[in-house]
Amino acid sequence: MVKMASMGLHVFNPAWNKVQDSTTIGKKFSGSVRDVTFKLFGTDETLTLPLQVCTKVGDVKAAFAQQLMVNDANSIVFVAKQGPNFRKQLDMEEIASKVTVKGIESFKPVPRKWPYPTLIIGAGYNGLKCCMHHIKAGDTNIVCYDRFDRFGGYCWLMDANKTSKLQTEFGSFHVWWGPDFLEYGKCGGYPSVSKGWEIWPKQKELLEHFEYAADEYGVRPYVTWKSNVAAIDIIGDKNDINRYYNITVNHTDKDETSETRVSVIWSFPGSMQKNRQIEYPGEETFGGHVGFGMGDQIGYDCLEKKNIAILGNGAFAIENVRTCCEYGCNKVYVVTRRKNLPSPRVPCWFVHQGPAPTPGKLVLQMFQPMYDLCGFGDPWEYWSVHADKNRTRATIIQGSRFGIGDVTFLAVAYGKAEYVQDTLKRLTFRTLHLTSGRKLEEIDNLCKALGVTGDFSFDRMQKMKEIVGNWCSGDYRRPVMVDPLGMNAANFTTFSTGIGSHGFIHSNKYIIDYPKEYNLLVAGGILQALPRQKADEKLDKPAYVTDVKHAVTAGFIVGGLCPRADQQGGDVAAYKHKMYHMAHGTDVFLSECKKSWDMYQETWKQQGSTHDYIPYPYTREVVEGFFKDYSEALGFPLSPDGPPAEEARPASSEIPVNDDTIRYFGTIVETDHKQWWASSSQSNTQLSMNMKMASTNQQLVTA
Ligand SMILES: Cc1cc2nc3c(=O)[nH]c(=O)nc-3n(C[C@H](O)[C@H](O)[C@H](O)COP(=O)(O)OP(=O)(O)OC[C@H]3O[C@@H](n4cnc5c(N)ncnc54)[C@H](O)[C@@H]3O)c2cc1C
Repeated sequence: MVKMASMGLHVFNPAWNKVQDSTTIGKKFSGSVRDVTFKLFGTDETLTLPLQVCTKVGDVKAAFAQQLMVNDANSIVFVAKQGPNFRKQLDMEEIASKVTVKGIESFKPVPRKWPYPTLIIGAGYNGLKCCMHHIKAGDTNIVCYDRFDRFGGYCWLMDANKTSKLQTEFGSFHVWWGPDFLEYGKCGGYPSVSKGWEIWPKQKELLEHFEYAADEYGVRPYVTWKSNVAAIDIIGDKNDINRYYNITVNHTDKDETSETRVSVIWSFPGSMQKNRQIEYPGEETFGGHVGFGMGDQIGYDCLEKKNIAILGNGAFAIENVRTCCEYGCNKVYVVTRRKNLPSPRVPCWFVHQGPAPTPGKLVLQMFQPMYDLCGFGDPWEYWSVHADKNRTRATIIQGSRFGIGDVTFLAVAYGKAEYVQDTLKRLTFRTLHLTSGRKLEEIDNLCKALGVTGDFSFDRMQKMKEIVGNWCSGDYRRPVMVDPLGMNAANFTTFSTGIGSHGFIHSNKYIIDYPKEYNLLVAGGILQALPRQKADEKLDKPAYVTDVKHAVTAGFIVGGLCPRADQQGGDVAAYKHKMYHMAHGTDVFLSECKKSWDMYQETWKQQGSTHDYIPYPYTREVVEGFFKDYSEALGFPLSPDGPPAEEARPASSEIPVNDDTIRYFGTIVETDHKQWWASSSQSNTQLSMNMKMASTNQQLVTA
């Protein structure tokens, strides 16, 4: 029964005969179950299902169509032996016990074979991951174009500084993130420090990691470098399955143009091409170095023993504080209109290892030891925190991501860094005049870290006025993903890129592979439910650059309406937890944090600082306390040592049918199925009566 109900088949409970007309009691439907063997025509593939004797051919066809993503159930034909002959079974007949099936390729869902290749725009983090995913799935009819000549994208080839390091941990970022990638067995599995991976790799190591993954997965043959996808012509109506796209590509190294027909376009164009450009009055009189916080523009030779002012307060600003400290600056001011919450390393790591989202309340509690130690105040009082009076819940909403790292806190505690909540009004020689009237004097270097902006030409190329969910103009065959802006959450699954990219690629590929799902989603009203965004020139925001609320809502809606798309990524929760503890578990992680904390203090001492040593605020005991709070809040125990090593999880196919499963399907049987049989029996009774009236007085058995 459970198997039948899980296939979407109507289950008949013999007791229901009692609700029928008294003449049909015990006659209409048989509740006994027998094994039915289906053999795929022309192959050796067979499938045996326990089905109730009264199950109709039409219902099994509908269940097959549903499970195997076949568009039209009528294209499936069941042939059964009757006497010496074989005969096509009619929909109203009871299913025979041995059936040959025609009209399907397999008893597993078969992804649609699109007539033209799949295009992947961009070979940065996300484009590369998408290529790897296709290759892993054996779907190699792909073409990828990128403007650069190697993997890494704008982020790591152009934006990053030579001092840039990952702020989140490698475990949450490595490009082969995901339980399915682990199963595929390439890249050595878990990215453990014991295998030589650094927890916070620098730009050079990250670029090497992209190359390594690309080679392991054999991505290179599918990528054409120095190639700009310049135009897309959309051929065919939006809902036409035969729609395709003519793309024009400029090959910048050869001064050539090519045209290709494609069926699907994944876009990973990045959204960090341009620094936000703001020119301040008096810049020409400033006399010191002026540069941006990206692409090595900070002016490295103007940092040692110098005073630097950084404008901005996002992740780039935090990174530049570290760079200034590493280059032996005298003092660095972070000038910001409002002070965003920066995150110490430990809460970031904790969120990434947690199998379930960490409540905002716990995240703030984890900030507390570092905030207390370094005079950062009460994290609950920050402008971006929305909490109830009793602090039982916290939602964090801010326009930029957390800047993550410990050194900023330490630098503030040492007096090497200072946050200045103000805005820059104008500049004179080596002086910043702030709106409050305060002056920052003897400044040698002005670093603008004011954020980045997207590229309006992307919207034009896609002929897109608005993005619907993550689909250009609502076209599910043109998904686009870039780093969403800001943060907006009450529970935190990640501060990083890996998990989001993994889910996005999985769920969208599923819908592209099974367009029938898309039709069901549209019928279910997905296009009305998905968030939409138009371009906003005033805010310098093209339609494709969405904020995190938009991206997360879109993901939830697709996942909610199409659970199968959502499930594609595998057991992400268990993977996330185990992978982190295998890659850089509690003790290794804490020891590395403390090492670098001490290293900065040692360096500053050598540079002449007389400040007392500050012990690292997170010890094993403190972190054990976080695990205890998390376990209590979520209602399941979680150990700081990760899952037991010998833990053997059954594969999903081996998961036994337990009481909960039976109760769940019992409810379905008692509601949907009962109703179906009641209405179906009524129509059958009606049919029987009509036939009686129309022809003879003969008793017709309509079941
Ligand atoms: C310094 C720095 C530090 C970061 N630290 C972290 C961190 O600690 N943790 C974390 O999770 N994330 C971090 N990020 C963000 C993370 O790196 C990005 O999320 C990720 O790299 C984005 O990759 P992408 O492929 O979407 O985009 P991009 O890297 O921007 O790549 C886009 C690619 O698309 C190509 N392209 C665009 N348009 C076209 C076209 N029309 N035709 C052909 N090619 C095209 C471009 O050539 C480019 O190569 C950091 C980013 C930076 C810059």
